[in-house]
Amino acid sequence: MKQDELIHQAAEIIKRGGIVAFPTETVYGLGADAFNPLAVARVFEVKQRPYFDPLIVHVASHRDLNHLVSEIPSNAEKLIERFWPGPLTLVLLKREEVPDIVTSGLPTVAVRMPKHPVALSLIEESECPIAAPSANPFGYLSPTTAEHVQEQLGDQVDLILDGGPCEVGVESTILSFAEKTPKLLRPGGVPLEEIESIIGQVEVRSNKEKILAPGMLPRHYAPQTPVLLHWSEKNAEAYRGKRIGFLAFQEPRLFLKFIHIEVLSKKGDLREAAANLFSAIRRLDALKLDLILAESVPEAGLGRAIMDRLRRASSQGE
Ligand code: AMP
Ligand code: MG
Repeated sequence: MKQDELIHQAAEIIKRGGIVAFPTETVYGLGADAFNPLAVARVFEVKQRPYFDPLIVHVASHRDLNHLVSEIPSNAEKLIERFWPGPLTLVLLKREEVPDIVTSGLPTVAVRMPKHPVALSLIEESECPIAAPSANPFGYLSPTTAEHVQEQLGDQVDLILDGGPCEVGVESTILSFAEKTPKLLRPGGVPLEEIESIIGQVEVRSNKEKILAPGMLPRHYAPQTPVLLHWSEKNAEAYRGKRIGFLAFQEPRLFLKFIHIEVLSKKGDLREAAANLFSAIRRLDALKLDLILAESVPEAGLGRAIMDRLRRASSQGE
C-alpha cells in the first residue's frame, strides 16, 4: 500500500479510538487521540507505563495548540516561532478539556509539533492532537526505526507507520513554563545553548528536585545489558575474560578485547552520534554481553542529551 493510503488508514484508526505507532524526527511514537481518555489508556497499558508519567501531545498547527493550552507566554511564543516544527516540547498551562490521563492530573500539558511529514499528515488527517510517548516498553530504549517498534510492540498496536530511521535520534528537549522562569526538564534534540540564545538564561532542573515523571528517573532509556559510563583503563582490567562491548564516540582506543565495537560518529559529530545512539546500544544489547563500556561525549550542544541518556542507561545516576 502507498504511504498516503497507510496514513489515511492510520488516521481512521486514531479517529475510532485505536493506537498507531508513527515516525517523528526524534524517535517513534505510540499515539492516540489526545481527547479520548480510553484510547490514551490503551497506550499506557501497551507500554506498561505508570499512570503518573504524563504524555507529550503532538500538534500540527497553532489551532491544535490553542485547543490544548490556556496561555502562551511570550518567551514560549518566540521559541515556537523559531523551533517548531522540531524537537522542542513546551510544558504550558492546560485547558480544562485536556483529559487528566494525558497529564497525570497536572495543571500543565506538554506539547510539541514534530518535524516529520508522516507525523504531521497523520495529525492533520486524524483531526485531533495526538498524545504519544515513545513506542517502547516502559523504561527501555526508545525506538528509532519501525523495525524496533515491530520487535517490541508489534502485535499490540493497531498499525505501525514506517518513515525510515529517525533523523535526530534522541527525544525532544522539554522546557517548562509552569513557573515564572522557564526550566529545562530534559535535554534533547534542541540544544540548550540555542534556546538561551533566544530567551536568555534558562534554569536547569536539578537532580535533587522532586521527580515529576519517570522520564526523569536516574535509570531509564536502559538496555538489558549493564552499561558502564565512568571507567578507566585501570578498572576496566577487572573485566578481563568477560564479554564486553564498546560504545565509542569516535575512533576507539583499543586496549581491551571487545566482542563488538559501535562507533557513534567517526568524525566526532554530535548530531550524527545522537542519531546513531539508540540503534547502536540496541545492537550491543542484542549480543547478550556481560557489559557495555560507553565512552563520554563532550557535554555541549546535543552532547548534553547524549550524556543524559548514557547516564540513565548506565543507571549510575547523575
Ligand atoms: P516520553 O514521551 O516517554 O518521551 O516522556 C514524556 C515526558 O515528558 C515525561 O516522562 C515527562 O518527563 C515529560 N512531561 C510530559 N508532560 C509533562 C508535564 N505536564 N509536566 C512536566 N513534564 C511533563
Ligand atoms: Mg519514553
